[in-house]
Amino acid sequence: MKIVLLGPPGAGKGTQAVMLMKHYGIPQVSTGDMLRAAVQEQSPMGLKAKECMDAGDLVPDEVVVGIVRERLQAEDCKNGFILDGFPRTQPQADALKHVLAGLSKQLDSVVSLQVEIEALVERLTGRRACIDCGRGFHLQYDPPSSDGSCSACGGALVQRKDDCEETIRNRMQVYHQQTAPLEDYYRKEGLLTVVDGMGEIQAVQQAIVSVLQSH
Ligand code: AMP
Repeated sequence: MKIVLLGPPGAGKGTQAVMLMKHYGIPQVSTGDMLRAAVQEQSPMGLKAKECMDAGDLVPDEVVVGIVRERLQAEDCKNGFILDGFPRTQPQADALKHVLAGLSKQLDSVVSLQVEIEALVERLTGRRACIDCGRGFHLQYDPPSSDGSCSACGGALVQRKDDCEETIRNRMQVYHQQTAPLEDYYRKEGLLTVVDGMGEIQAVQQAIVSVLQSH
């Protein structure tokens, strides 16, 4: 199963990708996570990406395509993968098609999660992650321990630098200008299904699974 999850920041792509990963036994390929790891390691690529990420802008296509090309060739992607946060531009979508053709593969399905703008902002501003184990929380919907620490390991929680309100506004604009047109791109290829992402996490997952089963 080779899947792309589309949707604006905060639509729940990461959450759904993790659940689908467990359901289908295929890896989540999140360009945001891979770029954050590169920033953490202070690799040359991470240093280059950091400025764009902090501003809520997109990292150049050639950088992101390079990491995805390498990742999709890994052994664990042999039976499928869930792309989360990639592609985000038409050149990235074209490059993905090319990379997959080189591996004699093609996408099975593209699911676009739809969530109202007010809900997106609320989801993003309340998001926190444990600095030690990486577990994600939401101050309102999935709160941490009462002392504000990670309920799994007791670590301190941090907010992603790009989850502040000003950067969120830019990320939304970038999404509408550069990524939303991919809905039409994949609709023309007969791959797109739009799923309501406003419901409970489990309900959204069921909706996605039934779309994937019908493909
Ligand atoms: P995410 O975790 O998917 O919200 O991504 C966080 C940030 O990483 C984005 O705001 C971009 O700066 C960068 N990023 C992630 N995926 C891509 C991509 N496919 N193309 C360009 N930049 C990306």
